Amino acid sequence: MKYDYLIVGAGLYGSVFAHEATKKGKKCLVIDKRNHLGGNVYCENHNGINVHKYGAHIFHTNDKTIWNYVNKFAEFNNYINSPIALAKGKLYNLPFNMNTFHQLWGCKTPQDAKAIIDEQVLKYGSKSPKNLEEQALSLVGKDIYETLIKEYTEKQWGRKATELPAFIIKRLPLRFTFDNNYFNDRYQGIPIGGYNAIIDGLLKGIETRVNVDYFASKVELDNLAHKTVYTGKIDEFFNYEYGQLEYRSLRFENKTLEIENFQGNAVVNYNDNSEIFTRIIEHKHFEFGKQKHTVITREYPENWTPKKEAYYPVNNDKNQSIYQRYKEKSLTLHNYIFGGRLAEYRYYDMHQIIASALVKVKNELN
Ligand code: FAD
Repeated sequence: MKYDYLIVGAGLYGSVFAHEATKKGKKCLVIDKRNHLGGNVYCENHNGINVHKYGAHIFHTNDKTIWNYVNKFAEFNNYINSPIALAKGKLYNLPFNMNTFHQLWGCKTPQDAKAIIDEQVLKYGSKSPKNLEEQALSLVGKDIYETLIKEYTEKQWGRKATELPAFIIKRLPLRFTFDNNYFNDRYQGIPIGGYNAIIDGLLKGIETRVNVDYFASKVELDNLAHKTVYTGKIDEFFNYEYGQLEYRSLRFENKTLEIENFQGNAVVNYNDNSEIFTRIIEHKHFEFGKQKHTVITREYPENWTPKKEAYYPVNNDKNQSIYQRYKEKSLTLHNYIFGGRLAEYRYYDMHQIIASALVKVKNELN
């Protein structure tokens, strides 16, 4: 056999696995059905601006080992994600913090903000919330829910908040400090030169082939290697024999504008239903770009159909039980390794996907 590992999918999971296996002297072939490497972190260069083609990606982690790991492949800038929300004609800071509370109610102290929220939670909350609306009202009260959560969530899921399950919102962190940093993690930033620099570094010296769909010639491809690392959709691998797993999808509408600065921030959420998109990303602000032009992306949530990109797993009971059956079957196949967001039917952040690939490759090669 020509290779030790055939790796299906050149996203972060496949690239980390390939990199580490190659370091241990294994020969890998990485294939991807798309016309580029990088999976969902891929950036497209638009006249000097890195456009996050599959949605805005901000790297953040508390794990120093993972931070040091990614920094081997690219230097990170000091971008801090501080999204802005636009609702009913007014701008608000996110995540919910003292700036937001001041913008909502004019209050100036944490005590005043807490008193308002507690009063509203008492008045509108319920002890055993039966849907997302009741859950949110019980966590943050009426004003935050109605201004910043309700319509945004309904756009995201394409359903009324009263018809959505409560578990979608487990927690709604409230910060009683004037701190607009969206993440609580110790390390955060955007790789200078975009995410492609990390993927290029990971896959340096490794054979890769793009525009290759694994299922178009599965047997021949499997026969090239001792083992296959599969990072595509798990239900597709098993030819949907237990049913199709569901996703939410997104549509991205990119525009290049001949102005320097469109919205003054990388991320502006549109929290009410006066627009059907959920947010506008202005990519240059991730890298403090000084170009004369700018590129913006409107993000539209969509129902998923098999022809569309599968972005977010819908981890309800029905899908989880289908996934469990696929997972059990996958564990019986000893020449295959399943990993990554699609094969595990799970939302992973980038630092989590890297950590999970590192654990898998370590167990495999030790
Ligand atoms: P992918 O990147 O999807 O890679 C899988 C690859 O397999 C794809 O390239 C696909 O083409 C290929 N493939 C599938 N089937 C086949 C086949 N049959 N033949 C050949 N190739 C195949 N994380 C963060 O940490 N911060 C963020 O801000 C952030 N923002 C996000 C925003 C959005 C909209 C989404 C959806 C995710 C976001 N993430 C973010 C998560 C991040 O994208 C993932 O953690 C990461 O990309 C997962 O890597 P992966 O390798 O598992 O999957």
